[in-house]
Amino acid sequence: TTLPSDDAATFDVRLTDTPRSDAEREAALAAPRFGTVFTDHMARVTWTAEGGWTDRRVERYGPLQLDPATAVLHYAQEIFEGMKAYRHADGSVWTFRPEANAARFAASARRLALPELAEADFLGAIEALVRTDEAWVPSAPDTSLYLRPFMYASETFLGVRPSAEAEFITIASPVGPYFAQGVHPVSIWVSRDFNRAGPGGTGAAKCGGNYAASLLPQQEAFARGCEQVAFLDAATGTTLEELGGMNIFVVHADGSVSTPVLTGSILEGITRSSILQLLADRGVAVTEQAITLGELRAGLEDGTVREVFACGTAAVITPIGRLASDDFDLTVADGTAGELTMSVRDELTDIQYGRRPDTHGWLRRL
Ligand code: PMP
Repeated sequence: TTLPSDDAATFDVRLTDTPRSDAEREAALAAPRFGTVFTDHMARVTWTAEGGWTDRRVERYGPLQLDPATAVLHYAQEIFEGMKAYRHADGSVWTFRPEANAARFAASARRLALPELAEADFLGAIEALVRTDEAWVPSAPDTSLYLRPFMYASETFLGVRPSAEAEFITIASPVGPYFAQGVHPVSIWVSRDFNRAGPGGTGAAKCGGNYAASLLPQQEAFARGCEQVAFLDAATGTTLEELGGMNIFVVHADGSVSTPVLTGSILEGITRSSILQLLADRGVAVTEQAITLGELRAGLEDGTVREVFACGTAAVITPIGRLASDDFDLTVADGTAGELTMSVRDELTDIQYGRRPDTHGWLRRL
């Protein structure tokens, strides 16, 4: 066993008796379909109202046994995170801004009345799990080990009140390139019938319920021939917020860039904040502001909007080539991936994979 970093908690590593063979692992790593293959272990910490967080351990990956009256199954008191571990050319393994994921996880916990997990426990879980299952971090171009920390209300009790028990678990899944056929622009359906979040709701938290609410609108987008759904603000229905699982940016003809300002109903993406920093470093005039659908449509029609892109951990940066809804169907410029979009994408992935210096101290070695 390796000692944890100074700022990470110690986890007791209990190795499985039945790890996958090298051949099975190699086969799984060769062509992983997103979210279908998991490593041999998971990291886990248990919480009770009386005892606090206890029993930090890494144990065999496997099914959870839940009483049918477990609170999370009824009231969705659950939060999660999404991040990646990247293998660099020298074989070392790194995460990208995990402290930001830890902070967002703590903020999500507060909103969902779950216990806050200390940063040291969040970082310790990731470090212990990735070190234990290091052989599962793929090394082919654009591959990574996707990490999914989550916490759920585990008390067996049907009353509607915060659970007095919770489990924090981190699982890991090797993932291939998000765009198997190369990066290509996606089409977006702007939802008028549905919202994902509203004022005072849980939109700024990463909780399962937000994603449950986005599934029907996502289905509607598919049915209308689009790949992703974009949501407007619930209060006025005029301002662009974000996609079901990504933030959004607009590149203007004068070289400036804007992204929707955080309103309390938008998830603050770590990719979003990194892009804001990289653009500012380049001297680009970048603003967080309200972007109305009307402005965006007008800009696409008169050409003052040059590029639109979406961003998040899974796909990093995805060019948007088309925006449609009941009453419009607009191509973004000529519908191909924009120049700024692709250069920021390259810059960010170069930092993540260690091909460019990490001048902001965003990488953390595992
Ligand atoms: N918005 C939503 C609703 C998301 O689920 C995600 C993915 N976590 C994002 C934005 C992007 O966040 P990040 O860049 O931290 O992955």
